[in-house]
Amino acid sequence: MTRCTKCILTDEVPGTIINQEGVCNRCENRKVFKPIGEKHLIAYFEKTKRKNRAYDVLVPFSGGKDSTYILYLATKVYKLNVLTYTYDNGFFSELALQNIKRAVEKVSVDHIFIHPSLGLLKNIYRQALVKSGEICGVCGIGIMNSMLKMSETYKIPLILLGHSPLEDDSFTPENIYDTVRLKHILTNAKGITKADIRRFLIYQRQNYFSNYFFTKTGRFGKKVDPLFFIDNPTDEEMGKIIQQEMDWEDHSGSGYTKHFDCLAEPFTNYIREQRFGYSRRIVQLSTMVRNGEITREQALDIHDRDNLKNNPPNIDLIKKMLDLTEQDVNEIGKIKPMVYEDKVSKANKIFARLREFIK
Ligand SMILES: [Zn+2]
Repeated sequence: MTRCTKCILTDEVPGTIINQEGVCNRCENRKVFKPIGEKHLIAYFEKTKRKNRAYDVLVPFSGGKDSTYILYLATKVYKLNVLTYTYDNGFFSELALQNIKRAVEKVSVDHIFIHPSLGLLKNIYRQALVKSGEICGVCGIGIMNSMLKMSETYKIPLILLGHSPLEDDSFTPENIYDTVRLKHILTNAKGITKADIRRFLIYQRQNYFSNYFFTKTGRFGKKVDPLFFIDNPTDEEMGKIIQQEMDWEDHSGSGYTKHFDCLAEPFTNYIREQRFGYSRRIVQLSTMVRNGEITREQALDIHDRDNLKNNPPNIDLIKKMLDLTEQDVNEIGKIKPMVYEDKVSKANKIFARLREFIK
């Protein structure tokens, strides 16, 4: 194993090539982020305002750093009429729930809390985990499809997402956010009926093309990532702004705060480490080093403290929540990578190839 001398990636992480000087391809090819330009973002806002709908924008809100910052931008900086919503994935920490409540009160916006049946959700997580070794895709699809449904129901022209240009890694080579793939995993899974699947997925055959088409025709809101248009604060600066403006509280126990709002994260990192031989943390931490947010030494230190070869701290809670035995966890850790990749929607496969071609 060779480790990059600038970040902490090793050549075990797929797609990583370390050159003779000891520098990885991601550090070598790093491009300095150039914002698209605020005027283009404002043009979107003006267009949506001209439609005179009840809400200008929809903001999906997890209570985490990025989405809190987006809510701050939408309300306090750009003065938009906002509907915000939170999808309860069943794994919210108490602190995340408090942060959501405080922020929504602070900026006085309408907020919808979507609570899917916890019984159904746990069953789906459990089956997805046992069959495919993944649960993040379940949560991601739940958030995405309910977001589209909200924009459709309330006729909201614009959806503001918290994707960051400084964090461009998808963390897994599997297409875990593919609706058709998940539908296949859940079909004939123990204790899950066809009606359950319909209810959970909302849109059964969602793919890039249908999404593009329904966005163009105005059925779904257009998704925009504000952070790609403007200069971004660092992770630390962002934390300070939302503490001051949104009454947001940091999670003091963690050296790294992204995704602290999800109780399942240490567990999903652990499983990924078992299945792939590397965790997404190494990718995240390396990105932060490249962005100058932490030093390489700090990243190595955090990575060591993660100690992902051993059971994560809250594994008993997750086992209890999802009704898993020790043996289940061991078996899940052995599921081969890419196990359901042949079930990815054909449309999405074509789209991925097109994107590669354009690149
Ligand atoms: Zn590197």
